[in-house]
Amino acid sequence: MKMTNQLLSQASKEGRKSLLETEAKVICAEYGIPVTKFELAKTEDEAVELAEKIGFPVVLKIVSPGIVHKSDVGGVAVGLKDAKSVREAFKQILASVKKHNPRASIVGMLVQEMAPASTEVIVGAIKDLQFGPALMFGLGGIFVEVLKDVTFRIAPVSEDEAREMITEVRAYPLLRGYRNVPPADVDAIVKIILNTSKLVVEHPEIKELDLNPIMVYKKGAKTVDARIILE
Ligand code: ADP
Ligand code: MG
Repeated sequence: MKMTNQLLSQASKEGRKSLLETEAKVICAEYGIPVTKFELAKTEDEAVELAEKIGFPVVLKIVSPGIVHKSDVGGVAVGLKDAKSVREAFKQILASVKKHNPRASIVGMLVQEMAPASTEVIVGAIKDLQFGPALMFGLGGIFVEVLKDVTFRIAPVSEDEAREMITEVRAYPLLRGYRNVPPADVDAIVKIILNTSKLVVEHPEIKELDLNPIMVYKKGAKTVDARIILE
């Protein structure tokens, strides 16, 4: 995969251990993992232009090689409905990031399509010292963070294994729909797990990968945040 090879070797040439969200998402997209539409803005005016092109509401996110957890430094603003809120958020994010991390080098601001809220899942990959890359699956938020309701398989993962991963977490019934929430597109999650498996198997230089969260819909799914850490 051309873009993936290029981005991974460029990062390692520059001595960077973590990829920017923009880079991680280009790689995901090349591997058939659906991601939110995004553009990189260098200035406030450009952010407004790009927001108009993508369509409101949009999300703004800081892009900086030194910042891995963007919301921890006030680097994310969601639900921006018009040009005025984009301008305000642009200034606010920069101020907050500079306050938390005065020396952070800033590449720009990601202007991103706002994915409608839905059931959130997480797909990840880590490296086991003995078995090599392993895939992780869980439902987002409290299910992973508080209940540790996650499951793992050694890569490469087969389609049956991917389906098993989804159905064996305790929170699985939530994906089958309840009350006024329609069933989630499990096939779309299966595809994401399989494509992530292919990506980490073909690129052993990836130490960790984190698609967190992925919004899953009645039809389709969309990765809202992607992180890739290199060896
Ligand atoms: P962090 O680096 O802090 O993990 P994220 O990109 O995950 O930053 O953004 C934080 C939160 O903002 C996400 O967990 C999600 O709830 C929300 N969010 C981010 N991007 C989008 C988007 N494009 N559409 C909808 N919600 C988003
Ligand atoms: Mg995130």
